Amino acid sequence: PSSHFDVIIIGAGAAGLMCAATAGYRGRRVLVIDHANKPGKKILMSGGGRCNFTNLNSTPANFLSDNPHFCISALKRYTPQHFVELVDRHGVEYVEKAPGQLFCKDSAKDILNVLKTECDWAGAEIRMRTTVSAVAETDGGYRLSTSSGTLSCESLVIASGGLSIPTMGATGFGYRIAEQFGLRVLATRAGLVPFTLHPELKEQLSPLSGISCPVEASCNHQHFREPMLVTHRGLSGPSMLQISSFWQPGDELAINLLPAQNVFDDLIGLRRDKPRSTLANYLSQYLPKRFAQAYNDLQGWSGPLQGYKNSDLEQIADTLRHWTIKPAGTEGYRTAEVTLGGIDTRQLSSKTMATLERPNLYFIGEVLDVTGHLGGHNFQWAWASGVAAGNDV
Ligand code: FAD
Repeated sequence: PSSHFDVIIIGAGAAGLMCAATAGYRGRRVLVIDHANKPGKKILMSGGGRCNFTNLNSTPANFLSDNPHFCISALKRYTPQHFVELVDRHGVEYVEKAPGQLFCKDSAKDILNVLKTECDWAGAEIRMRTTVSAVAETDGGYRLSTSSGTLSCESLVIASGGLSIPTMGATGFGYRIAEQFGLRVLATRAGLVPFTLHPELKEQLSPLSGISCPVEASCNHQHFREPMLVTHRGLSGPSMLQISSFWQPGDELAINLLPAQNVFDDLIGLRRDKPRSTLANYLSQYLPKRFAQAYNDLQGWSGPLQGYKNSDLEQIADTLRHWTIKPAGTEGYRTAEVTLGGIDTRQLSSKTMATLERPNLYFIGEVLDVTGHLGGHNFQWAWASGVAAGNDV
């Protein structure tokens, strides 16, 4: 096997494969290496096995970063529509599950097959089970000491992803390479991750595990109106995953259990029309019955509404709209969908993903400090940053 390439990409995930195909079509000799036994493992497990591969409504506002303007250029030049065209060319069938969120109709394998086929057509080689023990800068590029011998290249692309799901092969490799070349790495933490609860609340909510209800979750001036799921470990579901990316240890969450209701007016009306009905009756009109009853009991509400004064109802309405809880923590990288933080993008060209100091060293995908909201944005960033680098290497 050859040992010299125009481009070597470390990481055969979403960003790396996209970059490889793009560069290959430009006539570059491309090698992708990865320590795992199979490429694109996260693609396969994503979106519950169906891969939410893009979001038609993706904008830079759907991304968190310490340098929020960085992602604009790449996202503008490679849009969700571009990826949809690629998927269409390969005849993959998909469905729009929630507004803008495109999932494979059959299996996430379809997306991985698109990428592998594109790499094949573009002449990009993929070598799995290859570990890198050292990277050195040479005159015209880089030399890599790997488990399959010494490899060299003109351009080196780091696409090794973030720290989430270590059992799927995630490592801090990209951050170490960044530091080796004098780049700043911003503190990382788990994002899009379920919350854990303190023992008392966990016990109170545990009978509700498996129940999902539509809420609006808020924290640090961010609001997400999506379902919340109670699990035997804590709180999950889209609203909790979304808000977890904005939560810091010690912060409280505010949960509006009835975001679509004018609760105080409802309660005044109900007391007038049906004075013998209870708060549990009211709650179960809008929340799953078991949840309504348990929440009612948690708050210690009892007796018919006619026994409540206006000021009581006002307070109850407030509680329902601002149920505040203090999570114990999150489940961490073990189950997080993404890693927040990472390589400081101020040191890179937003057009090409090349480092400013070394125009032949690139970083793409999740290893960078660009993190999408839930709903297909993270893959869109992987595709867009991969194409941006693939067109420049
Ligand atoms: P990755 O896809 O993680 O690829 C990195 C590659 O680098 C891996 O193949 C890894 O083996 C390799 N690697 C790591 N370290 C080394 C090393 N030291 N040497 C050699 N190779 C190395 N996003 C969405 O947009 N929609 C979804 O539906 C969605 N669902 C998800 C579900 C789960 C359970 C998880 C964990 C994530 C999900 N995501 C989703 C997020 C998405 O998977 C990632 O943002 C995306 O895969 C990042 O792409 P990447 O190419 O940067 O990194």
